[in-house]
Amino acid sequence: MLWRGRRQSDNIEDDRSDSGGGLGGGSPGQFRIPIGGRAGGGGSIFLVILVVLAGWYFGFDPSTILGGGDGGLLPGGGGQITDDSGGQDSGAGAPANDEMKQFVATVLAETEDTWTGIFKSQGLTYEDPKLVLFSGQIRSACGFASAAAGPFYCPGDHKVYLDMTFFQQLDQQFGASGEFARAYVVAHEVGHHVQNLTGIMSKFNQMRQGMSEADANQLSVRIELQADCFAGVWAHYTAQKGILEQGDMESALNAAKQIGDDTLQKKTQGYVVPESFNHGTSQQRQTWLARGYKSGKLSDCNTLSGPI
Ligand SMILES: [Zn+2]
Repeated sequence: MLWRGRRQSDNIEDDRSDSGGGLGGGSPGQFRIPIGGRAGGGGSIFLVILVVLAGWYFGFDPSTILGGGDGGLLPGGGGQITDDSGGQDSGAGAPANDEMKQFVATVLAETEDTWTGIFKSQGLTYEDPKLVLFSGQIRSACGFASAAAGPFYCPGDHKVYLDMTFFQQLDQQFGASGEFARAYVVAHEVGHHVQNLTGIMSKFNQMRQGMSEADANQLSVRIELQADCFAGVWAHYTAQKGILEQGDMESALNAAKQIGDDTLQKKTQGYVVPESFNHGTSQQRQTWLARGYKSGKLSDCNTLSGPI
């Protein structure tokens, strides 16, 4: 990806030297997910489109751990989206990480531009998420999380949480190398933010209550595949800007393959338990990522009804 020299997002919070503290966050417990006021207004065409597509709504499993299985994070309580008291971007990260941080900030900026445009075309205002860089462990409005659980998005505070050492794991442990594999990780989490803004996620959280674990897992798969498809939509627009390089999309698709539930389970335990899948198989993840990428249309990201 030809990212150098492009705009970097200001919405990075670098908490790497302050892990585990920092963000006060809300207390876990209630399943009330604040929806971005600006985007959550009634009667939005965008929302209507999604309702029509979906037929019914889903929310989201906030333990949205890319490739990590069920991380057990509970949705946050009242955490309002304005809690910026966590770390500021001091620019003082470890040198080895600085370039990666710049890359992440650039990818985040590209997602901001793309989703702002898509929302605008529907008469809506996109609200940028924050991206928190942490090291080891972090407290979010969704509770306490360890880096071992992988990157995640917390709907309670509208923040993406990323320990960049995950990228090394992606490369060395999962066999998913390449810059754009990393961009896909960020874009997938931002996809959950889009689901949060559009109300899909809160609906899912309502629905999954009282469900059996197997049923909830099936819903989770649909939500995760949609986040993959949204990542593909972002990649589509990024390609249109002429900044994708040869092999980029292949890197992302390979990452989607490597972190499919079946592939991960085979690797870690030697057999698969389909009822426990909560992110989708390798094939499903690749399919939906590719689908969003091909058309760039949200209407092609209807994972919420019909076969997946
Ligand atoms: Zn996810």
